[in-house]
Amino acid sequence: MDEQETAELTEDQLSSAGERLASTSTASQAMATRWLGILQRVTEGAVSHRDLHELLQESLVRIREAMEVDYAAVLLVNADGTHLDLYAACGPEEEMIGRVSVPVGRGVAGAIAASGNPMVINDLSRVKIESPLLHAAMKSLVGAPLRLGERVIGVIHLDSARPHRFTDDDSQLLQLLASHVALAIEHARLFEAEHAARREAEIISRHLQALQAVSDVALEYTRLDDLLHALLQRMQPMLGVENVAILLPTPDGHELTLYSVRGPEEAVMGKVHVPMGQGVAGTIAATRQPLVVESLATVPVANPFLREHFHSLLGVPLLAEGRLIGVIHVDTVQLRHFTDEDRQLLQVLADRIAIAIARAQQYERVRQSRTEAERQVAVLREAAARMDEFLSIASHELRTPLTNLAMNVQLMDLWLNADRNQRTDESPEGYTAQAVAKVQPLIQRSHRSIQRLDRLVSDLLETSRIRENRVALQLRRTDLGSLVREVVAEQLQAHATRTVRLELDTQAPVIVEADPERIEQVVSNYLSNAFKYSPPDQPVTVVLQVEGDEARVSVRDEGLGIPASELDHIWTRFYRVAGVRHQSGSQVGLGLGLYISRDIVERHGGQVGVQSTLGEGATFWFTLPLARLEPAG
Ligand code: ADP
Repeated sequence: MDEQETAELTEDQLSSAGERLASTSTASQAMATRWLGILQRVTEGAVSHRDLHELLQESLVRIREAMEVDYAAVLLVNADGTHLDLYAACGPEEEMIGRVSVPVGRGVAGAIAASGNPMVINDLSRVKIESPLLHAAMKSLVGAPLRLGERVIGVIHLDSARPHRFTDDDSQLLQLLASHVALAIEHARLFEAEHAARREAEIISRHLQALQAVSDVALEYTRLDDLLHALLQRMQPMLGVENVAILLPTPDGHELTLYSVRGPEEAVMGKVHVPMGQGVAGTIAATRQPLVVESLATVPVANPFLREHFHSLLGVPLLAEGRLIGVIHVDTVQLRHFTDEDRQLLQVLADRIAIAIARAQQYERVRQSRTEAERQVAVLREAAARMDEFLSIASHELRTPLTNLAMNVQLMDLWLNADRNQRTDESPEGYTAQAVAKVQPLIQRSHRSIQRLDRLVSDLLETSRIRENRVALQLRRTDLGSLVREVVAEQLQAHATRTVRLELDTQAPVIVEADPERIEQVVSNYLSNAFKYSPPDQPVTVVLQVEGDEARVSVRDEGLGIPASELDHIWTRFYRVAGVRHQSGSQVGLGLGLYISRDIVERHGGQVGVQSTLGEGATFWFTLPLARLEPAG
């Protein structure tokens, strides 16, 4: 609207000038021609420039020439309308451009702006001038307001270095020129505003494009590593930098580690750990503020690689819902002055990236807990399967001796009843010697079945005692040598056909502080396993050694051996090597013997172990600490 008004004003002025021209003399006509010439020259100068400063500078040069004055200057009213700032000048004032600010109402220019009227001062020494420089340089002045309609946007003044009489005509001409200059200023300002708006729009569009690219990537990848890799790959050219790096905090939050890089810093991946609050990334994380470093040589860095390979850096925090997710920084090999726009763009991207990272981390946690849940389900299934297997073995194991017992009892009953029928006079109450002889082995067999049942039930009971930590040891000084000899003799009674080689290091007693019944249980378990899992014609060797302050008992067989992958498992409850068939005897076993043995030995402060190569037999051993010497007397 100002433009419109001003245009009208200018036409008004021109037409009034025209009217005056028509009514004046030839001399006046000459002056009018001069005016029009000047106006034309100044207007031409004004339209050839888009930049406001250049435009005014050029206009002043032309006005100074045309009006044959020494100096010229333009002051513009500042944004809040309180001051006039020196904006363009020809003459001594030139060096003060940008440094002079006159309050509206004060000094000569201030008075012109306040009154809105032109002013002529032929003797400047009589008035108060703000600047001593001007005071010395200028003698006479003509000034006019730069008006757009009612609004004064500045002041133009022309000055003479020697005393000069500026006329009303000069003042009018300057007023006419001022209105043109004001119009040109308005045009230039509009142009600048439009230019700024276009630049702003371009920046927004760039930001949007960058955001779009980042969002596309964020949607495409769910795995954190893939996501960051793809993001950095896009960002590097987008930001025109050689290096982009993302650091994430360690779980304890004390450090940042370099997590993903695109650029030369890849060389130190996995080696960069920045304490919170230190170095560039640590500072960004601690302050949660962006950081621009023009020269990395001038700031402390936690990662010297940055200083050695890059010149400038821009970094921002990665924040999602106020939570610090990490830090992103971009680096250039050459010096770069990162602008506000660069910083804003990186921050906008960082906000998006932070959300994407938080989402990927969440996804990863869900995935991990699902995997963990699946693992636990598998473990439970395995345990359930093991329990089913155990139950079927246990029932089989218990039923075998029970069936034997039942059969023996039936047979004994049968034979004794039959015998009663054949009773003779010599033995009217008793049974015949024949019948007793027949029943005897059945009683012995029943005994063994009962023993076996007893052992199975004891093993089960023992297992639950171990689980509930209710095993009590009756410790006393025990000679391990005699103990081993007795167990071997007992086992040989039950397995009369087997050969056992007994190798005792010493005939002297090997005294340990032990519960003899429990240790017997261990030796007899090792021995019965050796019988079970080796062919009947192969010998079994039992060795007792003293090594330092401990005794070591080992039982070696020449049987199947155990696959290396199973060696750690056989000591666990109910564990039985799949597909292994016992080589002799009928017992199957519940997979408890070694579990119980290990518990007993460890409760005595000893250790168990096994060496075995598949197909070459096995050596099971255990150690016990030797008892301290009994005090003499
Ligand atoms: P089980 O009652 O099944 O023998 P153990 O706990 O005594 O239970 O033994 C666990 C598993 O270890 C056995 O099922 C067998 O597969 C393996 N094992 C034990 N001793 C030997 C051995 N001397 N030779 C080969 N395998 C053995």
